[in-house]
Amino acid sequence: MKQANKSTRDRCPACSSPAAHLLDWEFSGLGDSIFNYTAHFFCCQDCSLVYVQNIDDEKLAQYYAGECSYFEKPHFAVTSPTNQEKYEAYIRFLNDNRVAPVDMADIGCGRGGFVSRLSERWEAACWGVDVDMRSMPQGEGKDKAAFRMGDAAQLPFGDRSLGLLTYFHILEHVRDLHGLLSEAVRVLQPDGFIMIEVPDAERYRAHPIGSAFWISIREHIYHYTAKALVAALQSHGFHILQVSRQTLPTPEFSYPSLMVLARKRERPAAVANIPIAGDVAAYVLESREALLRQAQEILGVAENQQVTLWGCSAELFSLLPLLDRRRVRICDSSKLKQGTSYKGMAIEDPRSVPISGTLIIAPYLHGVAIKSTARQLGWSESAMHLLH
Ligand SMILES: [Zn+2]
Repeated sequence: MKQANKSTRDRCPACSSPAAHLLDWEFSGLGDSIFNYTAHFFCCQDCSLVYVQNIDDEKLAQYYAGECSYFEKPHFAVTSPTNQEKYEAYIRFLNDNRVAPVDMADIGCGRGGFVSRLSERWEAACWGVDVDMRSMPQGEGKDKAAFRMGDAAQLPFGDRSLGLLTYFHILEHVRDLHGLLSEAVRVLQPDGFIMIEVPDAERYRAHPIGSAFWISIREHIYHYTAKALVAALQSHGFHILQVSRQTLPTPEFSYPSLMVLARKRERPAAVANIPIAGDVAAYVLESREALLRQAQEILGVAENQQVTLWGCSAELFSLLPLLDRRRVRICDSSKLKQGTSYKGMAIEDPRSVPISGTLIIAPYLHGVAIKSTARQLGWSESAMHLLH
């Protein structure tokens, strides 16, 4: 759907080269979600960064304050062995680059898993900073890490006070990239280190998880290439020490990790030439095609029978705008979600929806678990379909 007065040209937020409109993606969400909007995806013609142009940090802050439930998800459990393994990979990356213990802060620390682990090894101050107090460890922990509330654009530290700042899975969530990096420059000591990790968009295709998993994560507004991340850092005077692509574990899946370590310098560095390793724009377009095909298939089935969708996952919120709401019903096991609605439609309890027609299981990651619950409720094998 074309909109009047929509800009089709922009400046890349990472490297300032011209960027062009790539496609529109209609997201959605429960109740009055901030994601009931059409995202305008743009792609940089030089560094190949793909990003959502028409959202800002104020809107996103509403999401983190109200809708977001990271704080209760087992995916982020700091004690899980897979997450511990990931923290070790981060520490190894610092050690490999001979970063000696310095006063540091982990920005967007969540439950503080990494910073707590690092503080066991480092004879230096280790801070965890997050906007969301619900995530933070409460009271006196047994570790040496300490926690402060703050956001990436306004850090609770003095000028030139820290030797290392780490940002794990933060830069894909913050629209004002240059605000974040300027603040890092302010807080870092001369020659201080910055370590950044984001999902490696150039390797989404190698780790698809589901047909539209990566692009359906509505709060990921940047899809980085290594070239884009390096360009953004260099524009703030950082010298790049290492760019690393790894595959790291989480409790639910392994993901393509892009890590960069850089150092604050007074003099500008020679611009590193980073080759483009994967076509992110093509991947986004393919994800869109796959989603449209899924929607067509579901609408085809709904011609003749009842279609029930189970699971209000991110993928479902990209799929729903493509479906005819009159022809499907939605259910979810979460009591919290049952209390809400989708554009006027009630989210039903799976135990009370009629067992007839076809059941579409929407979440890519928990499909098998939902299927076994549905089987117990009486859904037959042939009536259930898993989206992936
Ligand atoms: Zn760019």
